[in-house]
Amino acid sequence: MTGAGCSIMYLAVMVVSECVIMRIVGSVSCFFCGLVLIVHPAPAASDPVPDAKPLVAQDSEPFVEGVDTPPAKPSLPAPAEETVEIPPEPLTECDVPGALIKLADPVAGKSGSDAACGIAEPVRLNGVVVGTAAAKFPSPVTVSCRFAKTLTKWLRDDVLPAAEEQFGSPVSVLASGPGYQCRRRNNLPDGKLSEHALGMAIDISHIELDDGSRISIEDDWGAETKKGRFLKEIHTSACERFTTVLGPDADSSHRSHFHLDIGCHGKACTYVICQ
Ligand SMILES: [Zn+2]
Repeated sequence: MTGAGCSIMYLAVMVVSECVIMRIVGSVSCFFCGLVLIVHPAPAASDPVPDAKPLVAQDSEPFVEGVDTPPAKPSLPAPAEETVEIPPEPLTECDVPGALIKLADPVAGKSGSDAACGIAEPVRLNGVVVGTAAAKFPSPVTVSCRFAKTLTKWLRDDVLPAAEEQFGSPVSVLASGPGYQCRRRNNLPDGKLSEHALGMAIDISHIELDDGSRISIEDDWGAETKKGRFLKEIHTSACERFTTVLGPDADSSHRSHFHLDIGCHGKACTYVICQ
């Protein structure tokens, strides 16, 4: 090999060595590397690149159970207002053991917005008897036979025994509203018909005992007294018999009485509102 040939060979070896070293340390400042990279560019990756997956759609919000309000369901058409079918003939029988009861004339709404009011099987309930003791309403209440059965059972099996146990005195008066009232809920001018308008509800404001004492929902509810505990006990037992029980804890409209009804809540009519 000549001297010139030897020099060229030496230069080539140096260039290749420097490029290898500089590529390992990641430098791009090597002049000769630039030349080599131009002549021999780095091989492109041969694996195909997958398509990018879209992130959460812009128009959908994440739903957090128990924190957020669930997405609204499509609204259904409003159900037709409940109407009562009044039988053409007066009720001939309403067998309620222990009830002081009389059959009543048919009760129907008038016209217009009152047309849906009425009682399918109306009775007038004077009170209930247990043994020789009678607990009476100040005036007979007008309700449906079906409601009279539920109310009588609660009074005879729960309220009267609880009063005897707490106070040692039988109940003499069950102070209540009239039962039937053709009106909307909470006496509002419009809205859903009250269960009172179907003979399926009653309001009870206080109870009087034979010994003259008085247990008032307005005065005694929530008190740490015998009377307060008695009211709590019969409120709890009411929630096992009626489908709606509203007392002073429900809202200010019920601060002075228990509202009890057997209206339908939920698809199977088994949901209970107990407040
Ligand atoms: Zn009521």
